[in-house]
Amino acid sequence: MFLVFLRRRFIPGAALLCGMALWAIPVSAHSDDWESHSWQVMGTQVDLAFWPGSRPADATVAAIRQEFERLNARLSPWVENSELYQANAHAAEAPVIISAEFAALIDTSREYSLLTDGAFDITFASVGHLYDYRAGIAPDDAALAAARAGQGMDKVVMTPRAEVNGVAEHGGMALSFLHERTRIDLGGIAKGYAIDRAVTLLRDHGVAHAYISLGGDSYVLGDRRGRLWQVGVRHPRQENAVAITLPLADVAVSTSGDYERFFLRDGEHVHHILSPASGRPASALVSVTVLAPRALDADALSTSLFVMGIEAGLALIETLEDVSAIIIDRHGEVHYSQDLLAPE
Ligand code: ADP
Ligand code: MG
Repeated sequence: MFLVFLRRRFIPGAALLCGMALWAIPVSAHSDDWESHSWQVMGTQVDLAFWPGSRPADATVAAIRQEFERLNARLSPWVENSELYQANAHAAEAPVIISAEFAALIDTSREYSLLTDGAFDITFASVGHLYDYRAGIAPDDAALAAARAGQGMDKVVMTPRAEVNGVAEHGGMALSFLHERTRIDLGGIAKGYAIDRAVTLLRDHGVAHAYISLGGDSYVLGDRRGRLWQVGVRHPRQENAVAITLPLADVAVSTSGDYERFFLRDGEHVHHILSPASGRPASALVSVTVLAPRALDADALSTSLFVMGIEAGLALIETLEDVSAIIIDRHGEVHYSQDLLAPE
């Protein structure tokens, strides 16, 4: 196991010593006064641990549950009346009216597409929907080439709603796809957004100490009452093992791995993060962890770096303020952004 010391902002000397002495992963490390809850939503598991705030703990949990359900109902690619599902079904035929919230996520996705030279691209789904990881199905070259015609953010167009109806209405946008094969999926950013929403709710409820994770996306709010949280990054090739432990407070941590959803073919992980340039799974890395002030950014960037690879990925991270990255390549070697002090 590695322990990473963060040079900047997170760790004053005293806290660092505490972090070293007390060795525990947040969700398993709670006494009776810590609230601890786990449940399933958005196709993954939520783990929540918090020290109750100004509102009853049950109300805090209920608010977060409700918010995740709301986001799932709006953004899921599987729920038939979600906005995303409706867009994929109809936006190539006629403009589809979408909420300001969904529109903002598409805008942010477009910004990440520009920032990453197209490595992050929600239209990967034009090809992505042809993969079935449970059934072990990947598209053949011909199917892939045909589907790739729909890919590209230039085919995703939003206009203010009033321009479409000719009537001024509040909020929302009209979304159109310029190609019949275009599809989008927010799987690379939605969980991070959901975590940020949960953190806002925790703060609204007066909570000052919490850990929340949704699959590979998490946030540590405050510290663990006098100690740092110890956030474990899963070992990419060993079930239930921790590869790296990060002593942290007040930061989002997102990990993208090729082990989340995959099947094996000839020893290769055929997995769920696709390189938009090829329509095939990005294969240079096995795990990317990004730390950032907002979970939305950590999520989008961990997916992006997975596609970009070590050199371009770390170069991008060095240009971003308060963002750090830890990359494990396919040989098991670990690469850190400059602000992190690698273990001996
Ligand atoms: P997870 O926590 O689901 O493993 P990640 O943050 O690693 O999430 O993102 C993986 C998800 O991102 C995929 O399931 C898919 O929905 C989406 N995705 C895959 N490839 C790309 C890409 N090139 N750009 C944007 N999103 C992608
Ligand atoms: Mg991500």
